[in-house]
Amino acid sequence: MPGERFKVRVTKDHLVFCCGHFISYRGHRCERLHGHNYRAAVEVEGPLTADHYVFDFIALKARTREITDELDHHMLLATKNPVIRVEEQGPRVRVTHEDREWVFPRGDCVLLPIENTTAELIARYVAGRLLEALRTHEGFTPEVLRVEVEEGPGQSATVEWRP
Ligand SMILES: [Zn+2]
Repeated sequence: MPGERFKVRVTKDHLVFCCGHFISYRGHRCERLHGHNYRAAVEVEGPLTADHYVFDFIALKARTREITDELDHHMLLATKNPVIRVEEQGPRVRVTHEDREWVFPRGDCVLLPIENTTAELIARYVAGRLLEALRTHEGFTPEVLRVEVEEGPGQSATVEWRP
């Protein structure tokens, strides 16, 4: 039908990823270390295939889960933060902010090439990885891709891409 659009959305308990993090705010301040049970939700829009679906739900969930599983049970650190310094030192990661210092085992951390581990930028990171995976492994580029990352009940950020 002219004008009709289709969207599929996946979110499930298995798209939950539990992580430690802290962010900088108001320019120079820095939160205390804490954690969230984040949950991702993904939406894709596009035309219907010959089989009358936009994209296979199971494949969409699986591709998203590959990314959230990499993050799950890790300390998330932003490597491009202007005031929180992250240094890889062999088996350790040393993180400093003014006179505060944290040292983590390297294997317990995921170093993300982002400016801050806000829900917004985690959503953008997941969206980038997911788009790449959909294109490379599924031969699918959605017309619209939305990734929502919920930090807690009723508190989430969404990024929308039109590739
Ligand atoms: Zn937080």
